[in-house]
Amino acid sequence: MVRQTIVQGGAERRPESEPEPSPLSTPAFDPDSPERDDELRPQRLEDVVGQRKVVDRLRIVLDATRKRGDALDHLLLDGPPGLGKTTLATVLPKELGVELQITSGPSLAAPKDLIPYLTNASEKSVLFIDEIHRLPAAVEEFLYPAMEDYRIDITLGEGVNARTINIDLQRFTVIGATTRSGMLTAPLRDRFVNREHLEFYTDDELTTIVTRNAKKLRTEISSEAAVEIARRSRGTPRKANNLLRWTRDFATVHAKDERITTPVAADALAMLEVDALGLERQDRRYLETVAGVFTGGPAGIQAIAHTMNVPPDTLEDEVEPFLLRLGFIQRTPRGRVITASALTHLGLDPPAKGGTGPKLF
Ligand code: ADP
Repeated sequence: MVRQTIVQGGAERRPESEPEPSPLSTPAFDPDSPERDDELRPQRLEDVVGQRKVVDRLRIVLDATRKRGDALDHLLLDGPPGLGKTTLATVLPKELGVELQITSGPSLAAPKDLIPYLTNASEKSVLFIDEIHRLPAAVEEFLYPAMEDYRIDITLGEGVNARTINIDLQRFTVIGATTRSGMLTAPLRDRFVNREHLEFYTDDELTTIVTRNAKKLRTEISSEAAVEIARRSRGTPRKANNLLRWTRDFATVHAKDERITTPVAADALAMLEVDALGLERQDRRYLETVAGVFTGGPAGIQAIAHTMNVPPDTLEDEVEPFLLRLGFIQRTPRGRVITASALTHLGLDPPAKGGTGPKLF
């Protein structure tokens, strides 16, 4: 039995180790519990909506893997939260008929936390590591030989009594998910043969997801209302599911036949303070902070986060990607800058060219 301390070098290597998210990182409206996700999660690759290019490439990888009777090559999925990383990581082993184990970077504090997953990994099975960018350096280094040579080296005891034992592992696959591929160290990134980036979804794709999931939830929804919910989902299936659930609750209370029509959806989303573009309170607060407190920027992410009393991670992961996509902010070397279209959306005056009479700056 391996119970002793595992001595691994390099634990202090990552100086930019992230602060623990404070309780403030949990927004008021965030019913993203895994159980809720699981209920509506696609079970097969053919049920996965959108991400066509990614799915097509994965299908080739799957077919080749099956033909060769091999283990899937290690796969890294990156993209903002709620776009389907966990979904793909659960669908792929199902397609291959192999086992899946699930863990996450923050829950693997030391190499010993990873050992049971590695030694339990059956032949060709998948180990899904969510938030892999949060793996402590010592755990990451412990993972390298496991991914590359299917073995781990464990040092037992200390000092002159220390001895190393090698354990051979089955051929298995790591699927890593990250919202920050930029934070991954190069050696870890290089160990993933396949890397896929997930993009925001189109309104049409989200409409398909809303319509399909309304059926799963046994809720009647008009096609226009499905479009309305999709449009306000920030290009994100998880948001679409959340807005659908909320609208369903709203319809149960306020609609006569409990049917989701466009006016019901509009009222429900207005009550949630989700605007026509899908921006939520936190998005607007962010924009108002940059526009008001920082007079449009450039403003550093730490300063914005401190002013809003929200962890910088939350802003970088959950708020900024969609605002960047809308063209509402720019990231410059000196910090974030708000754009004229964001100011127009907020009902503020953009700065006048030539510097005369700007209300904001
Ligand atoms: P991530 O791991 O990227 O944060 P998830 O895979 O957990 O996101 O996705 C959240 C939910 O969104 C899933 O439970 C599923 O219901 C829905 N979803 C995500 N991607 C898709 C997709 N491509 N097609 C249909 N539903 C999806």
